[in-house]
Amino acid sequence: MNRFVESRARSAIFNLKPYVPGKPIEEVKRELGLEDIIKLASNENPLGPSPLAQKAASSVISQMHIYPDSNCFELKRRLSELFDQPTDTILVGNGSDELLKLIAETFLNPGDEVVMPQPSFSEYQFTATVMDGVCVQVPLHGFALDLSAMLKAINQRTKVVYLCNPNNPTGTIVTKEQVDRFMEEVPDHVLVVFDEAYQEYVDNADFVSGLDYLTTGKNVIVCRTFSKIYGLAALRIGYAFTTQAIAGAIERVTEPFNVNSVAQVAALAALDDLEHLQASQFLNRQGKQYLYEQLETMGLSYVPTQANFIFLDTGKDCRLVFDKLLQKGVIVRTGDIFGYPNHLRVTIGTAEENNRFIEALQTVLGNLS
Ligand SMILES: *Cc1c(COP(=O)(O)O)cnc(C)c1O
Repeated sequence: MNRFVESRARSAIFNLKPYVPGKPIEEVKRELGLEDIIKLASNENPLGPSPLAQKAASSVISQMHIYPDSNCFELKRRLSELFDQPTDTILVGNGSDELLKLIAETFLNPGDEVVMPQPSFSEYQFTATVMDGVCVQVPLHGFALDLSAMLKAINQRTKVVYLCNPNNPTGTIVTKEQVDRFMEEVPDHVLVVFDEAYQEYVDNADFVSGLDYLTTGKNVIVCRTFSKIYGLAALRIGYAFTTQAIAGAIERVTEPFNVNSVAQVAALAALDDLEHLQASQFLNRQGKQYLYEQLETMGLSYVPTQANFIFLDTGKDCRLVFDKLLQKGVIVRTGDIFGYPNHLRVTIGTAEENNRFIEALQTVLGNLS
């Protein structure tokens, strides 16, 4: 390593593991010389962005020489109405990734502990490690968050606990009953971060949003995103609800123009495109049923999902299956990075994409057996 970097950079950065993104379509085209590729690797909306959002985004392109509204006034006003939360408790970020980073920057001193499920979304570990925090990873129980084990992992040094609900990469939820019990017992010196990136896909009536605990006097923040069901991943925009005091603290470390104006107007339009939202939910439900049936026919086990992806057991080395699928133009995610060497995480796509995935998987597993 370079001597300057080694001796002068903050030592915490050398504890960071690089983020493993879903393989981009263009990269697969270049590397494998394939033309017809489907990406079921990053839980993007297979219907694309809301048409209303596209129209709104186009309408502000000519104004991109003007700085965006640093307060996201219109978007916060609409979020406030829709979710019945005061505007001064709402935060908007450059993706919910930024909000997660801001939470860490606001609360973590070196050595502070954060409690998170394992496996789960990698940003919790990343943002805590950037701040030289200590990550306490609590294994899942049967693919779902183990809330009683997470409670036991909390101590005097714990600053933040992350609840990814539904959990990425397993798609499981924790129930209202479980979260109720957790919230009753979680100490007041801990910030509870609910990451609800996939909550629009949930159809289990036992689900509860972190919003229900915002007025209990506990310290809660609920992060959501426009990247998944709203189909705006490239614009980078997410939002959060919390208390007035926590919002004020996080705003202190937020860059003045963190959310660009194209993202702000597109998100505002997407929120009111119920047709697109419902079509996306419908397509996901259909695709989920289809994939369940096909996987069962193939004798493969999977984790029933409340999100727009399925975590499934191929019974084979997932890296091998991944490579073979890639050669057939199907990009998915391997489970090894999450500690499951035989699993894949596949995004639920359009009917055509799901069909192509299943056919490719049948061929690949047939050839490997
Ligand atoms: C995709 C995802 C996000 C969203 O990130 P953005 O920065 O808003 O694109 C957040 N949390 C989880 C668990 C996710 O899977």
